[in-house]
Amino acid sequence: MLFPLTENIHYKNNALHIENTSIENIANAIGTPFYAYSHARLMHNINSCKDAFTPYGIHVHYAVKANSNLHILKLIGEQGLGVDLVSGGELYRASEAGIAVEKMIFSGVGKSKTELLHALEMNIGQFNVESAEELALLDKIAAELATHRAINHPNSQRPIINVTLRVNPDVAVNTHKHITTGQKGNKFGIDIELAFALFQQYQDHPHITLNGLAMHIGSQIFDVAPYRKAIQKLLALVKDIQSFGAEVTTLDLGGGFGIHYENTESTDKTQQAGLEFATIAKVIAEETESFKGKVAVEPGRSLVADIGLLVSRVNYVKESNPTPFLILDAAMNDLMRPALYQASHPIKEVVKNAEDVTRPYDIVGPICESTDIFAKSYALNKALKAGDLVAFFCSGAYCAVMSNSYNSRDIVPEILVNNTDVKVIRERVNQETLLKFEEERLIKI
Ligand SMILES: *Cc1c(COP(=O)(O)O)cnc(C)c1O
Repeated sequence: MLFPLTENIHYKNNALHIENTSIENIANAIGTPFYAYSHARLMHNINSCKDAFTPYGIHVHYAVKANSNLHILKLIGEQGLGVDLVSGGELYRASEAGIAVEKMIFSGVGKSKTELLHALEMNIGQFNVESAEELALLDKIAAELATHRAINHPNSQRPIINVTLRVNPDVAVNTHKHITTGQKGNKFGIDIELAFALFQQYQDHPHITLNGLAMHIGSQIFDVAPYRKAIQKLLALVKDIQSFGAEVTTLDLGGGFGIHYENTESTDKTQQAGLEFATIAKVIAEETESFKGKVAVEPGRSLVADIGLLVSRVNYVKESNPTPFLILDAAMNDLMRPALYQASHPIKEVVKNAEDVTRPYDIVGPICESTDIFAKSYALNKALKAGDLVAFFCSGAYCAVMSNSYNSRDIVPEILVNNTDVKVIRERVNQETLLKFEEERLIKI
């Protein structure tokens, strides 16, 4: 099967299906645009991820920001994966999805005092701290909480607060400039020298246990070399830290494993797959062989990107010179990646025309912004007309999570397909609902 088609998202009698459900039937039932996910594909991805990392004892924490739908989180949690969180909202969702606090990592460059306090009260598994200032704040809140606990629960044991420093290993990564995170000048992480100094400062600290190093060097990385380099830098730092008697018991190596978004005519599987779990797992296992503590990874995109489609109807085929416009009912508010990162998703007709003749289209949405363009000069069937359906592939990661209601458009729904079982897992949020939040209310200041 030619990428991006899989056993789970495929054509049957020229009609696009997720598993055994026709996309056209879903569109007719709930209207467009909508996201649809394959349950089987999600399970496939989770299993290949577990099969790759678990034999080496590497822990997997799903990066929730890629797709934080409650039902997706539940499925991922049920399969035993932990989570990586970047906000109090994600923490709330992960708890609602039933994920145990020990399996939670709280990352993020700008956690608020309220978020930190809440996460401390919940006693979550690991805090990934990104600055000396955040570490000082976390320590202060932990100290206050300890005093409070000592007064109110004098016999209770003090919880261990595991803290990991996110280090910026300063390695070059060949990816889009908007998604590199591990080079000097990025807002993320702490320089190696400062991390060393903080370990000295916080050694044997009364309130927090600084015991780990973390990194996340970017997204859409296909080459293992920057991972090797960054891990080596981290391990050199571990040695330095150990040399004055402190311990590093956790290495959290982040995510960023690349997936292909292009249509691939190649039948060579390695050309289609991106950075496979098995490949990166082996590299990490090799590089961390000498490390005796816990090793973790945080894949996001690679677990969920290819489980989903965004389905949209053609509103108009606007003839124009030199390229006709395919004007869809989906727009940049529903799928922001093309406008935000110049990303491209494979686009295909939902019902294939028997006569396979194409012409180039500029594929756009109806929003009043010049950046509301999904693709330029993109070849699709010549006979496409208003009312026809198209699907954007690989739309399970960083898509529905970024959707919004700009231009007073409804917030796009999400559908989960399990064989012939079809569930709405997020309702379309219409203007009536949105206007409920615009009822005015006097507040006392
Ligand atoms: C976004 C993010 C990830 C996941 O990145 P992917 O490219 O989706 O795998 C992992 N860790 C942290 C800290 C992140 O911010």
